Amino acid sequence: MGLTGLAIFKLLPKTNCGECGVPTCLAFAMALAAGKATLSQCPYVSDEAREALDSATAPPIKLVKIGAGDKVLEIGDEQVIFRHDKTFYHPTGIFVKVADNDADLAAKVAAVNDYKVERVGQEYELDGIAIKNASGNADTFKAAAEAVAGKTGKAIILMTKDPVAMEAAAGAIAARKPLLYAATIDNYEKMVEIAKKVAAPLAVKGTDLNTLAELVAKIDYKELVIDSGARQITQVIADETQFRNQSVKKRFRPFGYPSITFTTESDPAMEVLEAQAYISKYASIVVINNVVPAYLLSLLTWRANLYVDPQKPLAVEPGVYAIGAVTPNSPVYITTNFALTFYTVRTDVEGTRLPSYLIAFDTDGLSVMTAWAGGKFIGEAIGPWLKDADINGKVNKKVIIIPGGVAAIKGKIEDLSGWEVMVGPRESNGIGSFAKLRLA
Ligand code: SF4
Repeated sequence: MGLTGLAIFKLLPKTNCGECGVPTCLAFAMALAAGKATLSQCPYVSDEAREALDSATAPPIKLVKIGAGDKVLEIGDEQVIFRHDKTFYHPTGIFVKVADNDADLAAKVAAVNDYKVERVGQEYELDGIAIKNASGNADTFKAAAEAVAGKTGKAIILMTKDPVAMEAAAGAIAARKPLLYAATIDNYEKMVEIAKKVAAPLAVKGTDLNTLAELVAKIDYKELVIDSGARQITQVIADETQFRNQSVKKRFRPFGYPSITFTTESDPAMEVLEAQAYISKYASIVVINNVVPAYLLSLLTWRANLYVDPQKPLAVEPGVYAIGAVTPNSPVYITTNFALTFYTVRTDVEGTRLPSYLIAFDTDGLSVMTAWAGGKFIGEAIGPWLKDADINGKVNKKVIIIPGGVAAIKGKIEDLSGWEVMVGPRESNGIGSFAKLRLA
């Protein structure tokens, strides 16, 4: 359990020198307890006190990195149980499992590499490949690890209980810092030795929460990922919930690591539902078996929504966007810079096949009606901006199309900008027929 401010104070030098940035050791202790300061700010902490305080002031869930180069996957380092308390920081890594003796190994890796979807300005991708030592052969496992590493820059998980196979494969791709899965009660000494040798993270697998906690306590290595061993869906969710509760609320150190889960449903649609449940309930990694683009889109959208900061609206850079090969005769639309609104409108404007300008007006990321109600998308704000905006020099006719829901701002924009206002459809999906009827 974390130390209180008073307990931390007892371990500090009590000289009140102020070098940590606050006037007294007590104030510093309180800041440490609240997570608003780091121990390194005090240069006078003794080694004994540092050891005790390090664990008390460390984040409740350790940050662990898998992979190398620009595809490093960071997992863990979460601070809260509920997203609305603050935010979730490191999205669940989604890996696809392949067997080391699969004749279609190369095609499966290519499918993972190729899966990319752009949605509301974000690019969705899968995070990596989990290679299972299905052959039971160390050489086959090593060859598969090398083949996968040669075909993808994404993160890799090596899955075997056999330390001989693990040593061969991990040694061959050590530079890629794969996650080694997994240390168990039967092999952990050797697995820890391999993980230390290649400086790679290590997954620890128990048979339930108790055996997992006991096993983690025996291991003198901190780059860990934990697995309770559960595979039945309700049990996985219960265990993952315990990991988060015990680490965040109680600072129970054996569960203060990111976690890994595996789907068991064979039907791709059901598998996605299972994976969504694990993402929702705190899994740091989900290993799936199928790459079916239509289902993956819902999974990755779910993940993106969960890991967006609830306190910050998703916004695009305000400004004038050219859609297609615009000319001085292109129409000009305006909407807000709320990402979901902007990309929806952009898609519908693209659908008209009429090169157009689209203005993303700065509303601090609020949607049209919310921004209008809040006084950010009104004639008094848009008019003066439009009067001086550089769009004036780009088009022959000063006509701007506004969303139909805010038709009431038409007069004020015209008064303050000198532009003519055309009222567009209430909903973005009406832009296609609007363009055909009014702009053709
Ligand atoms: Fe106390 Fe250390 Fe801060 Fe000095 S730097 S006031 S000793 S906590």
